[in-house]
Amino acid sequence: MVNIPFNKIYFTGNELKFIKEALDKESVSGDGYFTSLVTSFLEERFSISKILMTTSGTHALEIAMMLIDLKPDDEVIMPSFTFPSTANSVMLRGGKPVFAEISQKTLNIDPKDIEKRITEKTRAIIPVHYGGVGCDMESIMDIAKKHNLYVIEDAAQGLNAKYKDKYLGTWGHIGCYSFHGTKNYICGEGGAITLNSDDKSLSKRAEIIRQKGTNRSLFIKGEVDKYSWVDKGSSYTPSDILMAVLYAQLQQLDYIKESRKKVADFYIKNLQKHIESGIIKGMMDTNKYYDPNYHLFYLVFKDEMTRDNVIDKLRSKGVKAVIHFVPLHSSVMGQSLGYKPNSLPITENIGRTLLRLPFYTSMSDYEMEHVVKSLNEVLKEL
Ligand SMILES: *Cc1c(COP(=O)(O)O)cnc(C)c1O
Repeated sequence: MVNIPFNKIYFTGNELKFIKEALDKESVSGDGYFTSLVTSFLEERFSISKILMTTSGTHALEIAMMLIDLKPDDEVIMPSFTFPSTANSVMLRGGKPVFAEISQKTLNIDPKDIEKRITEKTRAIIPVHYGGVGCDMESIMDIAKKHNLYVIEDAAQGLNAKYKDKYLGTWGHIGCYSFHGTKNYICGEGGAITLNSDDKSLSKRAEIIRQKGTNRSLFIKGEVDKYSWVDKGSSYTPSDILMAVLYAQLQQLDYIKESRKKVADFYIKNLQKHIESGIIKGMMDTNKYYDPNYHLFYLVFKDEMTRDNVIDKLRSKGVKAVIHFVPLHSSVMGQSLGYKPNSLPITENIGRTLLRLPFYTSMSDYEMEHVVKSLNEVLKEL
């Protein structure tokens, strides 16, 4: 039987060669040969003034919260429609995640709702670029400026995508990327933090936090002759073996994006008719956004029962479609913290009715056609 997985890891073919090179050079710890190659590549390619590679996207968010000195009871506004790491980074410092509503068109945080949730305790906003589609960063930066707030972009899904003329992850004071195995460009577990602010003390302190609270990075640059403990910190430098894998991936940056665009274009072209007939209520229409990175492809159905029914029927045809985020405010943890499940109606509704189709870089024409054909059959039976 045909079996189309939801996701498939794409390797470029150079990963083992570069891993071997790292081992031959005895470059296995953090900040080695490939880390330096990857860092320069990302800075140049995406016009990033300072990027530091990290052990995960989650850790990049955690470093960001340390950098802005988030204090207990400080509030941080973020969407509820996101991965738990966004909220955990705030909770781990004793802060309070304040969940804002998303816009139906992009499933990204709605700037108008951010403004309504600002109090004297608000310290920061974390916009999340869902599926590699940019948030309305112009409005968000304006709001932040007006209220003197930090903006930390959760661009975990957003590498190699733009909002207007600037890459995601370079708009906010700080940006966070992920190279987890489920993202477009991967090393297994890994991430990066960008320091975009003119305030250079942020990037200096980020280097120290990332290097176990030491000024080791100055030592590596030859600016001090021994390094020592200078601040709080932890161990956030990824192994150079993983950066070797990432370097192989980044060499095919354009190919990976183009391949994924082909899948999105095929889905849109062939499924548009179901939007017009009203059977599908919405889909990720990548043509309608600024330069996205084709991270995922979703459909929205009229209700939860229809969505779940479509998932079951697709599975019986060998097509693995999946749901996505359970909104954080209505999750087990969210409810135990006292958030009310019915407080964000658009988010709630999207969480219950969104389905993601199989979507990966190496998807063949046959696989795409089989997904569309199966979906057509399933929708006819509804
Ligand atoms: C993947 C993801 C993260 C976490 O990244 P890791 O590298 O897996 O720690 C955080 N936020 C969002 C929105 C994500 O999609």
